[in-house]
Amino acid sequence: MASWPLRLQGAAPVTPKLVILGFDGVDPRLVERWIASGHLPNLARMKKQGTLCPLGTSSPPNSPVAWSSFATGSGPEKHGVFGFLRRDAKNYLPALAPYTIVPPRFGPAGASPPRAVSHRRGSAFWQTLDRRGIPATLLFVPYAYPPPELSHGRVLAGLGAPDLRFTNSSFTLYTSESAEKMVAGGRVVQLTVAGSSIDTRLEGPRGPGGKPLSVPLELRLDLRTKTLSVGMSGKREKLRVGGRSGWFPVSFEAAGLVLRGRVRFHLLSLAKQLKLYASPIQIDPHAPALPLGAPPGWLEKAVGVHGGLPTVGWAHDTSAVNAGALPKEVFLADLLDTMQGRAELLYREIAARAAGLIVSVFTGTDRAAHMFYRDLKRKDGGPLRKVYSLMDRIVGRVARLLPPKTRLLVLSDHGFHSFDRMLHVNRWLESQGWFTRSRQQAEVRFLRGVSWKESVAYSLGNGQVYANLKGRESRGVVAPGADRRKLLDDIRKRLLDLRDPVGGGRPVRAVYDVYDRAASDVRDRAPDLQLAFAPGYRSSWETSLGGAPVGDALVANPKAWCGDHAASDFSQTPGFIASAQALSHDDPNLIDLANSVLHVFGTPLSGNGRPLL
Ligand SMILES: [Zn+2]
Repeated sequence: MASWPLRLQGAAPVTPKLVILGFDGVDPRLVERWIASGHLPNLARMKKQGTLCPLGTSSPPNSPVAWSSFATGSGPEKHGVFGFLRRDAKNYLPALAPYTIVPPRFGPAGASPPRAVSHRRGSAFWQTLDRRGIPATLLFVPYAYPPPELSHGRVLAGLGAPDLRFTNSSFTLYTSESAEKMVAGGRVVQLTVAGSSIDTRLEGPRGPGGKPLSVPLELRLDLRTKTLSVGMSGKREKLRVGGRSGWFPVSFEAAGLVLRGRVRFHLLSLAKQLKLYASPIQIDPHAPALPLGAPPGWLEKAVGVHGGLPTVGWAHDTSAVNAGALPKEVFLADLLDTMQGRAELLYREIAARAAGLIVSVFTGTDRAAHMFYRDLKRKDGGPLRKVYSLMDRIVGRVARLLPPKTRLLVLSDHGFHSFDRMLHVNRWLESQGWFTRSRQQAEVRFLRGVSWKESVAYSLGNGQVYANLKGRESRGVVAPGADRRKLLDDIRKRLLDLRDPVGGGRPVRAVYDVYDRAASDVRDRAPDLQLAFAPGYRSSWETSLGGAPVGDALVANPKAWCGDHAASDFSQTPGFIASAQALSHDDPNLIDLANSVLHVFGTPLSGNGRPLL
């Protein structure tokens, strides 16, 4: 009789068999360092009782590739996600590799709503379990976007979910200090402060004619009480310097299409200059413009914990720090707060007894390493140690909440290195006679301004090189077969011989063939070569987007973002795995996880991965 109310609600309690906690970009060397110094007691206990060791990662070792390997138990040659970006061979333009976000379109016939399409091939382990009726809860699993539709589970989208401008994340900085400009990952709006009232606007998604839709934003300055009152969409809140607002609902409407979001503000300074940071506009879970997960009812409550979680996948605003729009200490406080919020949701889901499998992923560990890697030289390890300590506390709390027989795995998808120097790969190809710009001394961006009839190779993404191949690229010049092979071999040889004039080191450690190893159904997205950089090096920011600046090919990394891994050598950049029980193999790899999960649930295995449990 005791189970009646639960049955009436359509749910019998489920004891979880397996909980996987993912912490993006956690480096095993740092875990060992801070276990040794006594800062990670819960991971230290797992190591003592069971296993804690490096976890082999994908090539290249970055999140879209690695988490796709985690999900499918296969490498990029099968799942077809080779990096963050791919190029369209028809027009040489960069495109997102794991999925496509199609923003709303406005035409004479009205508006068509936004869409998201996944490009990952292969079946994820949660889909296999779902087909067998095993309920899974997936919280913020990266690059599983759009979120999978599960008949028996709960899903809240992670990395991949865009903001309401349908970008990875774009902030707005309102300031009286600098001129209006677009920056990478955001926009600066100049405020003219004359008197106490400032009327400006918050720009949202693009509407008809490509013009951004916007809503009024009223700012009221009170220098006596040192506060700024922010008013938008019928809500008003007073902020002091250093203060963060709650979520403001906001909606944009055009041609009958209503796009709802939420935004919050940080008041960064007031007296000398007014500086107000507006977060990326989050897709509203109550009326999502693009899917954020399911089932409805649960989703809104899940996003509602901790005063409301960000819904954008890129939840920690690294671009705002890079652009000088967000002080590092504000970024860190916000990151720790979001991590706490995601943990709170996880604790609730464990208590809810709704799933046999829970996978919960935190990305703050990766973002903090990107921004605070230089501070590792400090004796106390800097802010990253605080983030790792929070990870450890989450691990400890989860371990205490779980029933005794539930297995717990803690893992990361890849490790980390410093990022001090960067190679403009297209500029370097040009210096070797393999890449020609249309106009001398004119900077190439998005592979625009390239003389394709004189270029045999080009680069886009993180260390990815393509031959300008006849029959594949629309303006290809290299013959397939021996000519292509010789070109790729020459590029490899000269890259491996490359020396940095500063310090004399070798920036490139290995060059891997990718295209030739890829399955035929994903080959059109594969680069010919993947560069694997030595620690301290990466391909340049400009190269990622198909750029070729003029000047030196090897230069210093100018950004606050000072740690990286995206084009490192996978053999030097493993993640880590911890289990309270010993694992059945002592060289675990990310591609083993899918079959490990299926094995725990007694489900037939697929692919090459070995069960570790
Ligand atoms: Zn990263």
